Amino acid sequence: MKIAVLGSGAMGSVFGGLLAEHSQDVVLIDTWKEHIDAINKNGLHLEGIGGDRFINVKGVSSADEIKDHVDLVIVFVKSPFTESAVKGASHIIGENTMIMTLQNGLGNAEKIAEITGSSRIIVGITNNGATLIEPGHVRHAGSGETVISPFDGEVSHRINEIAQILTEAGLPTKVSDEVVGLVWDKLMVNVGINALTAVLKVPNGYLVEHGSSEKLLEYAVREAEKICKAKGIQLKHDPVQHCKDVARATAANYSSMYQDVAKKRITEIDYINGAVVNEGRKLGIPTPVNEVFVLLIKALEEGY
Ligand code: NAD
Repeated sequence: MKIAVLGSGAMGSVFGGLLAEHSQDVVLIDTWKEHIDAINKNGLHLEGIGGDRFINVKGVSSADEIKDHVDLVIVFVKSPFTESAVKGASHIIGENTMIMTLQNGLGNAEKIAEITGSSRIIVGITNNGATLIEPGHVRHAGSGETVISPFDGEVSHRINEIAQILTEAGLPTKVSDEVVGLVWDKLMVNVGINALTAVLKVPNGYLVEHGSSEKLLEYAVREAEKICKAKGIQLKHDPVQHCKDVARATAANYSSMYQDVAKKRITEIDYINGAVVNEGRKLGIPTPVNEVFVLLIKALEEGY
């Protein structure tokens, strides 16, 4: 299958690298030229799960370097860049191209649909974790299930085929026709952990080791839970308990929002706590704690 990974940082490199290693025709697209140059010179240096090795995979720093339509585009830019990235790659998206987003937060599939139409979009979540070490060098830090679903419409043989290809590449993937609950389950974890760790400048575990931060986590997640209830979304876990469990299980990790703030990069706040605030406004549910989290992160971003 001809696959383009749009945004080949930590997660894009893991997915693209593993797919290339398992005989798929992959091209990594990333505007970070140093990273792409290192991949083209030495191969993609992947370590962690699966071992330390160099994978032979092609990279380009602009989608303009690709002339033909591909079968699948996997979108792995951070959420604020979804729209510009997909617009910049629209010439490789033909009428038979599937577009898959496993990004965190809410609203990415909707943004993509405005550009490509909704019928070929696959939406999902992944419990894999990855970290960028240096240009061309990524750690596959955690493995877990990926669940994908059609964004609009029914499960097709093409989605099943994509799940099979991912699974064969070492990324176990399930197809579901009801991914909304899973997306919100994952969102809850990000709502409770990301902004707080970024503002407090602490690793995930700190939040559950200290009473005040634990309360803040709880308040933010309970607000989001009210929105789920109002929307009739079934969560798989008690969201507060789940969020705390994840904070404990990843105690030494620094969240992606912490890392974005540390590197003075625009964060995914609008798609995580900001999405909760927006949904709350539409439903008339107050979300004051999430609103404060959004403003604190924006205040940090404005100081870059
Ligand atoms: P990342 O910052 O490591 O990678 C994103 C890459 O996109 C960067 O290398 C950047 O240069 C590139 N980019 C930006 N604009 C672009 C454009 N217009 N065209 C092409 N490339 C562009 O981010 P990540 O950690 O890989 O996360 C990607 C998504 O996956 C996010 O939504 C994140 O929340 C989600 N996610 C991450 C993890 C994780 O463990 N890292 C786990 C699950 C989900």
